[in-house]
Amino acid sequence: MGLEAKVYIVGAGPGDPELITVKGMKILQEADTILYTDSLVNPLLIEAAKPEAKVLKSAGMALEELVEVMATAVRKGKSVARIHTGDPAVYGAILEQMSHLHNQGIAYEIIPGVSSVFASAAAAGVELTVPDLTQTVILTRAEGRTPVPEREKLVDLAKHHCTVSLFLSATLIKKVVHAFLEAEWKSEAPVVVVYRASWPDEKVVRTSLGNLAEDMRKNGITKQAMVIISPAVDPNLVAQGNYESKLYDKSFTHGYRKGEPEHG
Ligand code: SAH
Repeated sequence: MGLEAKVYIVGAGPGDPELITVKGMKILQEADTILYTDSLVNPLLIEAAKPEAKVLKSAGMALEELVEVMATAVRKGKSVARIHTGDPAVYGAILEQMSHLHNQGIAYEIIPGVSSVFASAAAAGVELTVPDLTQTVILTRAEGRTPVPEREKLVDLAKHHCTVSLFLSATLIKKVVHAFLEAEWKSEAPVVVVYRASWPDEKVVRTSLGNLAEDMRKNGITKQAMVIISPAVDPNLVAQGNYESKLYDKSFTHGYRKGEPEHG
C-alpha cells in the first residue's frame, strides 16, 4: 500500500495474531519503526515486521521518550507503527500521544482493532444486545487508582440493568459486586468472565453475581480479564431460543426487506 512518513496507531486485536485487521497487518509488515507493549501485544504478531524494521518495546518508556522516538523517525521520512492492544479507542491512552504528536506537527492515523470486549463475547458465545432483554452495552471500569468521574459511578451505571462490560477491574471485583447488588441486581444474575480472550490459555468462567468473586479467585484470575454482567449472558438463552430479533421477523419492515402483513 505504500506507507507515508507518519505514525500509524494500530489496534492489534485481543491476542490471537489472526485477529488484527488486514490493513493493520499490512502496516505492520511495511513499517520502518514498530513500537509495541510487549506484555499485551502478542509477540508472534511482531514477527510479521520486515527484517530491517526497528522494533522497540514501549513498556519501559515514558510518554515523552515514546513521542520523541516516533517524531524523530517520522522527521527522517520513516513510517511508524504504534501497536496497541485490542482497539486503540478504549483504554488505549492514545489521546496523550496524539496530543504530543499534534503539537510537534507529526501526522498520525488510527487503524481500529478488535477490542477484547468483542473477543470475550465471541469466546463466551454471547450476543451482548438481545431483543427485549437489553439493547445497550456500557463499557466501563471499576474505580481503582485511576479515578472515574463521579457521575459514572458503577452503582448508577448498573441501574440501567443493561449489558455492562468491565475492563481493568479484575482486582476490584468485590467493589463491582457490591455496586451491582446496590443497584438491585439479583445475586443469581448471570456473569461471564473471560481471561485472555483469544490467547491459547483463554479461560471462560460462567458464574453469577453472587459467586463472581469466589469463582475468579478459584480460577486465579487477577488480570487481563473481561467481566461481562448482563441478562444477555445467561447460558440458557441459546437453548431457549425465544429471543428472536425483529430483523428476521416476517412482519417487520426494514430498509432491506419489505415486511409481510401478519395475517396476509
Ligand atoms: N484497548 C484494549 C483495552 C486495554 S485496557 C481493548 O480494546 O481490548 C486492558 C484491559 O482490557 C484489561 O485489564 C482487560 O480488562 C481487557 N483485556 C485486554 N485484552 C484482553 C483479553 N485478551 N481478554 C480479556 N480481557 C482483555
